[in-house]
Amino acid sequence: QRRWRRAVAVLEEFEEACSTSVLRLRQVVDAMAVEMHAGLASEGGSKLKMLLTYVDKLPNGSEKGTYYALDLGGTNFRVLRLQLVGDRSAIPDPDVERKPIPQNLKTSTGEELFDLIASSLKEFIEKNEGVHELSAVKRRELGFTFSFPVKQMSVSSGILIKWTKGFAIEDMVGRDVSECLQQTMSKKGVNMGVAALVNDTVGTLALGHYDDEDTVAAVIIGTGTNACYLERADAIIKCQGLLTTSGGMVVNMEWGNFWSSHLPRTSYDTDLDADSLNPNDQGFEKMISAMYLGDIVRRVLLRMSQESDIFGPVASKLSVPSILSTEHMAAMHEDDSPDLKEVVRILNDVLEIPGVPLKVRKLVVKVCDVVTRRAARLAASGIVGILKKIGRDGSGGITSGRIKSGSHSKIRRTVVAIEGGLYTGYLMFREYLNEAMTEILGEDVSAHVILRITKDGPGIGSALLAALYSSSN
Ligand code: ADP
Repeated sequence: QRRWRRAVAVLEEFEEACSTSVLRLRQVVDAMAVEMHAGLASEGGSKLKMLLTYVDKLPNGSEKGTYYALDLGGTNFRVLRLQLVGDRSAIPDPDVERKPIPQNLKTSTGEELFDLIASSLKEFIEKNEGVHELSAVKRRELGFTFSFPVKQMSVSSGILIKWTKGFAIEDMVGRDVSECLQQTMSKKGVNMGVAALVNDTVGTLALGHYDDEDTVAAVIIGTGTNACYLERADAIIKCQGLLTTSGGMVVNMEWGNFWSSHLPRTSYDTDLDADSLNPNDQGFEKMISAMYLGDIVRRVLLRMSQESDIFGPVASKLSVPSILSTEHMAAMHEDDSPDLKEVVRILNDVLEIPGVPLKVRKLVVKVCDVVTRRAARLAASGIVGILKKIGRDGSGGITSGRIKSGSHSKIRRTVVAIEGGLYTGYLMFREYLNEAMTEILGEDVSAHVILRITKDGPGIGSALLAALYSSSN
């Protein structure tokens, strides 16, 4: 009994440390907006890199032709082909192929990684167009979705700043990733040019905007997390005299690296960070995204098992890093069977903890709930931070998007494109995020803010940007 109480105390202490009152979330919102300003003011001015993308126009539906995209940045990579007829009403389903990235390639050499993706691209083209066409005169154009921090020199080229999300290929850092892909494609006889080098958030914004012109920002919550948004060129102070055709530019925030003392950090987060491939980096990402949530749960359960005997006397797999994936965690969290069958199954099959009583299963579910709720609510604060920066959070002040009419003020409809397995696949996460948006913004304002799932945004949007920026347009 005393031991059970200790396990409960671990949970209570954890829950307390993860607390995300609206007050605290608003502090995170403000901190995000402040850091955005700082990152735009000077190079290195903030942990938010606020990277220029050189995307100064977004697709509008008149794009025509066949374009490819290659999406590299997380658990899988995807190759796709998009045929555009110049009619926005009909975004045809693209041909897509998705392959897992072998774990060993994430920490090998650039050559091995690019060889694999260029070979897959070649196979994909042969399958879709027939071998005879591979060497045809017409050069194909490709959008390369590369979802790591890149310092872009132009819309189609950029240097890798650092790896995230479990990738660590040292010989690639500081190199132009488009050029690397271009060279490997040439070596393999693939006649294709990189027309756009695109962050996955930027691809998602492009598709979001193609579908709905009120789309001003895009957020990804999958293996990692990041966001981008449309900024006024004159607000990008660190790049004086930036000339763009539209007066705006998409800024890739790299918000995974956001940090603020207002974030509710626990000792489990500190330990996870210390054990990661990139300590002291990507602090926000490590509290929010799918690469880490399952492991936070594992760490709390491990602590419970050390403090008590609730998981029995046998040595379990609880001390194996990353053994509990975020998908396992979601499955336990969303187990709606009365006796929590799925929790039993995962504890037994994955963690080798058999025969756990119902009250302990409930404790496990509660740990999952605390971790997911905190993650989703912090992600919501980040989104509101962006809205605040661009004057779409309804807070008044100098808000370009707000038109006063009498005592009432009209708030412009604002759409945020959102994609990533955690948001699209994990219902509880999505519900917590949406709920927090309303709590932070209030009912009136949040009624004008739409989070819109933009399926396959990273890939399709990248092909759209290739069309928009291709040399033939
Ligand atoms: P990417 O790897 O490019 O970010 P996704 O956006 O599809 O690709 O995200 C994949 C990640 O999302 C995986 O790490 C996976 O664990 C997580 N994920 C996918 N579906 C779910 C789900 N239903 N519940 C929890 N996590 C999920």
